Amino acid sequence: MNHASMLAKAADRYPDRPAISVGTTIVHTYGVLARRTAGLAAALRRDCGLQVGDRVAIVAKNCAEYLEAMYGCWWAGLAAVPVNAKLHPKEIAFILANSGTRVVIATPELADAVRSVTDETPSVERVVSTESAAYRDMVASDPMDYEPVPPEALAWLFYTSGTTGRPKGAMLTHRNLTVTVMNYFSDVDGIEPEDCMIHCAPMSHGSGIYALPHIARAANNVVPESGGYGVAETLELIAHWPGATFFFAPTMITRLITSELIAEADLTNLKTIVYGGAPMYLADTKRALDILGPKIVQIYGQGEAPMTITGLGKRVYRDREHPRWEAAIASAGYPRTDVEVRIVDDAGIPQPFGEVGEIICRGDIVMAGYWDNPTATATSLKDGWLWTGDVGVMDPDGLVTLKDRSKDMIISGGTNIYPREIEEILLTHPAVLECAVVGRPHPDWGEEVVAFVVPREGTSPTEADLDALCLENIARFKRPKLYRIVSALQKNNYGKILKTALREDLAKRPVK
Ligand code: AMP
Repeated sequence: MNHASMLAKAADRYPDRPAISVGTTIVHTYGVLARRTAGLAAALRRDCGLQVGDRVAIVAKNCAEYLEAMYGCWWAGLAAVPVNAKLHPKEIAFILANSGTRVVIATPELADAVRSVTDETPSVERVVSTESAAYRDMVASDPMDYEPVPPEALAWLFYTSGTTGRPKGAMLTHRNLTVTVMNYFSDVDGIEPEDCMIHCAPMSHGSGIYALPHIARAANNVVPESGGYGVAETLELIAHWPGATFFFAPTMITRLITSELIAEADLTNLKTIVYGGAPMYLADTKRALDILGPKIVQIYGQGEAPMTITGLGKRVYRDREHPRWEAAIASAGYPRTDVEVRIVDDAGIPQPFGEVGEIICRGDIVMAGYWDNPTATATSLKDGWLWTGDVGVMDPDGLVTLKDRSKDMIISGGTNIYPREIEEILLTHPAVLECAVVGRPHPDWGEEVVAFVVPREGTSPTEADLDALCLENIARFKRPKLYRIVSALQKNNYGKILKTALREDLAKRPVK
């Protein structure tokens, strides 16, 4: 097999349909995209001398060349290493060295950044800028047929976002990518060739994964001119392109629905916003449904099992008559069709319905392991099950509700406290824009609860207000013992709040 065969088939069937667009301009049809991909693949193998299985890094912000670079690697039987463009050159160097990357394809400014750290990346033989004559020659090379590879062959080395410690390379195989595509159609959404995916989120991560089913169905992949996310630009693209799907982190949805531009926006072309990667709080979900309509789909997954472990489709969001509708839309949905999900204790014993435990999953979506890291692999993969590090509960009908990352759980007086529960309450306060709850060491209780709160502009919520809200809604022992009002919360490049940084901040600057 070769996952790139999906591009070949799309191009055979729909050679003239738009494949890649930038802003409102079509850049390549499927026929041209497949031709360029096969040319790039040939150049990587013949001119660069790469062997099947070698790694090629893509260090680029979202751009027209992104998908041909990824598919070019797969077509040639090579592994793609998409690197987050916002990383520091030293962090990029770590990934290039760790993966043993031989060739880097990079947008011009990032090519310079990569060249500035060559001392730290001994395996890198060549850095090719997407705007160079060399790159233009590569995509114009005599095409090769796609290389047949075993399903277990490494396709995508997916570096985790590294909210704790160094990123690890989750090894995704051609089989993983293929079941990811099939899962989109079975559990997330249907796609027609007339639809499009608009890539506002990084293509090195979630948005790149979502390109795959769109390529398989010969839909258009639209890259914003800015290469990223801005509300005004996003709304202009929605107004232009019909059948528009996005992959958003929850904070991107919040920015969209709280923008003053949304009131006047024409959302007719908006088909689906798939969101995930971090919790979306109930108050925000309800607001999103009111403003956007039931056009959202939630996925819960991780780089180690991409697309979804569980998901919540439009059908549930639409069904307001459902007796447990609020609980359902606050959950992470149901296990995807082809994945087994269990909630287990530390020994791996399945927990009864409603009992909290770690979420583990098994199926063809689970990564082959971490690149060059047998210790981390042994911790995460046991008897074919992926231990996610997330804590949750399952209902008898299979609905999975996430509590938190296990490392973010607070243990106070011997009782487990899940920060998300407290965050959900704080976010219902009209003056609270964002919040994050963490534990800090306490001599008697083990840990105590601390809330970081970002107020909405022009408001100043008091501790007493927030405390009263918590008292009305949650057990006393879960109430934050300290509130820290801050202007922003530190996030990583994927918009995830860095709770480790908040805990370190508390340790450095103790209050009271
Ligand atoms: P990453 O591998 O960087 O995509 O991060 C995966 C982690 O993000 C998961 O293990 C969860 O902790 C979190 N996550 C992913 N999807 C969701 C979701 N729908 N709700 C809450 N947290 C999520």
